[in-house]
Amino acid sequence: MPKRPLPEPTPETREYWEGTKRGELRIQRCRSCSKAYFYPRPFCPWCASKDVEWFTASGKGKLYSYVISHRPAHGFQDWTPYVIAIVELDEGPRMMTNIIGVEPAPENLPVDMPVEVTFEQQSDDITVPLFRPAGSRA
Ligand SMILES: [Zn+2]
Repeated sequence: MPKRPLPEPTPETREYWEGTKRGELRIQRCRSCSKAYFYPRPFCPWCASKDVEWFTASGKGKLYSYVISHRPAHGFQDWTPYVIAIVELDEGPRMMTNIIGVEPAPENLPVDMPVEVTFEQQSDDITVPLFRPAGSRA
């Protein structure tokens, strides 16, 4: 498969990237208000508490919104068209990702469609979480 542009792990995101390498979607939640959030931060975006912890999300969610990109962004030339989506995890947070496993057409991408995470190793350091329709075998 063609390679995607790779993110750079930082101290704040190291746990996240270590998780994806193991096939786990690691996100954070707040011990004060119990809300889960994404992207990784050392404080709660809801109540600003610093009492936060990592946990492994279910990897299940639903398609919240998407666009089908026909214009190749830098580094994505081999991927057009592709689906840039916002997935709402069952735990609450929304994350930007790509939907794979379906032809990128609106009839295949109903809003609220159940999706599940899948992982794609891109390099020794980076495995990216992508989403596919729940129950599919992409
Ligand atoms: Zn909080």
